Amino acid sequence: MNVGMNRLGNFSALSSKLSYRRAELLVAFATMLVTFDLMLKMEGLYIYVTEYYRSSKRQRELYDRGLTLTLKSKHILGLAFDIAIIDKNGKFLKEDDTKMYGILGSWWESHGGVWGGRWKIGDGHDVYHFQHN
Ligand SMILES: [Zn+2]
Repeated sequence: MNVGMNRLGNFSALSSKLSYRRAELLVAFATMLVTFDLMLKMEGLYIYVTEYYRSSKRQRELYDRGLTLTLKSKHILGLAFDIAIIDKNGKFLKEDDTKMYGILGSWWESHGGVWGGRWKIGDGHDVYHFQHN
């Protein structure tokens, strides 16, 4: 698997509070993730998931620091993740290093997801963010 999953320990805490509707959404989201991972493998890309589930408290902290524009992030529902693309030399690709985030973002959108590269945050765009629609 090319996806470095981080913070998945939080998933069990989240799943104990699931409604049926949220469980359905998470299954759909997980299906998208598996497909995304297959595509990455085929392309020979490596990504690291830097954040997945986020508590409301953490969302508030990020909001207060100006690092997010909303208190109602899909991260709180477990329906969003942030990635870092790592090149073959082990270097983290930043937004201005490459168009690769846009390529992955377009792929994600073509499969029904929402990509953060479409909205501005600070001086740039949230290219690292992928979420369920
Ligand atoms: Zn995010």
